[in-house]
Amino acid sequence: MIPYIDIHTHNSQVFEDVISVRNCDDDVVPEKWCSIGIHPWSSIQVSSDADFIDNSMKQLATKCVLPQVLFIGETGLDSKRGAEMNIQKDLFLRHVNLSEQLGKPMVIHCVKAIEEIVTIHKQQQPSQLWVMHGYRKNVTLASQILQQGIELSFGKYYDAEAMKKAYEANALWLETDMSGESIVDVYQTASEVLSVSLEELKLNIYQRAVRLSSAFRWE
Ligand SMILES: [Zn+2]
Repeated sequence: MIPYIDIHTHNSQVFEDVISVRNCDDDVVPEKWCSIGIHPWSSIQVSSDADFIDNSMKQLATKCVLPQVLFIGETGLDSKRGAEMNIQKDLFLRHVNLSEQLGKPMVIHCVKAIEEIVTIHKQQQPSQLWVMHGYRKNVTLASQILQQGIELSFGKYYDAEAMKKAYEANALWLETDMSGESIVDVYQTASEVLSVSLEELKLNIYQRAVRLSSAFRWE
């Protein structure tokens, strides 16, 4: 049986036949698969002084080494919320370093800062995968991101052409984020948009997930 994979969710519920990567939103690290980082929205709280950022990152690093932590993040850039952009970039780069040190991929939150993320990726040339989550922008921007080797995750709202582009590039992930939707419904709708069978879509995502981490292997 091939499981559904919810690559990014804030929902702590456990669902049958679903592997969820739950974003850790408090101090308690979940026992099961999760992602941990400092959200750009929280950059205001950690940006007060350099020592505080150092300490926050040290604390984060001790959690991120845990085997259930599959992704570093969500982290990223948000030009509408959080600290000013240079502080957000500093914080984001620290996450990039952590991701490279630990050999774990990143899940990225990006609002009106796609060019900046692509530029940083070009400069850093990370060995780890970056997944931009909740992608809602158009296919032209999607092509630029995909060409850079950054993959895209789609949730409730998205541009159908962008989704098709990501699937063609073998770089599509699906998520529920904060929508409260069922990942099964997200897959179902995506399979219709992509004109592929549900099984084909499940297999595509599952195989890439297992390549990313053996934690996704369904027993
Ligand atoms: Zn999220």
